[in-house]
Amino acid sequence: EEVIGIRPSNGSLAEYGISYSQVDLLADGTFDYENIKKAINDKTKMVAIQRSKGYQTRPSFSVKQIGELITFVKGIKPDLVCMVDNCYGEFVETIEPSDVGADMTVGSLIKNPGGGLAPIGGYIAGREDLIDACGYRLTSPGLGREVGASLGVMKYFYQGLFLAPTVSASALKGAIFAANIYEKLGFPVIPNGTESRHDIIQAVEFGIPEGVIEFCKGIQAAAPVDSYVTPEPWPMPGYDSDVIMAAGAFVQGSSIELSADGPIKPPYAVYFQGGLTWPHAKLGILMSLEYLVRAGIVTL
Ligand SMILES: *Cc1c(COP(=O)(O)O)cnc(C)c1O
Repeated sequence: EEVIGIRPSNGSLAEYGISYSQVDLLADGTFDYENIKKAINDKTKMVAIQRSKGYQTRPSFSVKQIGELITFVKGIKPDLVCMVDNCYGEFVETIEPSDVGADMTVGSLIKNPGGGLAPIGGYIAGREDLIDACGYRLTSPGLGREVGASLGVMKYFYQGLFLAPTVSASALKGAIFAANIYEKLGFPVIPNGTESRHDIIQAVEFGIPEGVIEFCKGIQAAAPVDSYVTPEPWPMPGYDSDVIMAAGAFVQGSSIELSADGPIKPPYAVYFQGGLTWPHAKLGILMSLEYLVRAGIVTL
């Protein structure tokens, strides 16, 4: 929200004179085609679509649904640039947004495509002229992608990308396992234990703050790093309520590693993701359950 400037911030797109409008999803979580059409005008240059749900309990979008929206908006204005924030979605389906017309597909290397090895970074894939334009903004006009600091981490990018499909599969298996456990215990889970998946995020609605907090404590206790730490809700920059985050990761902030987090506000849902290996994801989920049982929130 600060990047766009919805909440005023130094260096926001708004400060650069870039305006923004948003078309909320319909109540059932699908695209509001009618109002999307109305929102596109002469000034509209780019349409941004987010695949993953963030801190919302809507379903994530399938690549196919994203493709339908891209076809729709390009039908209205063919020169629109369609950018898809693909975070958490890479390698979950057999196609990616670039297969269905996205001009730019972007994501984080401390999530799926970094394979747990990339220590920092993001990727932008797509149309050459747009990638060049991004290069000029990232480094300097005139220099673009000809220069830039790689900080000696190229090996981790490539080895991480090599491992990324397998690592993403482990994380996905963990998410399905968590959905099945918490669904059987009566909690709303998004997605549920059997439906098709479009990213690695699993949401579990506890309805009470303690549920989110105990779940996160369990995930932290299962971490390979900092397992002795107790996570606590805190007012974090970039969020509009207290947020709790559990992660004991080899790469700081990495959420392809086993992690869980959530805002302390209704419906008190926790968002669980990652696990570099399936056995570790399983351990973490069972540990979250143990903490919930010990706190009396779940009775087995
Ligand atoms: C994590 C995330 C980002 C930001 O990625 P970073 O590498 O942490 O900067 C952007 N969009 C979505 C949907 C994300 O999940």
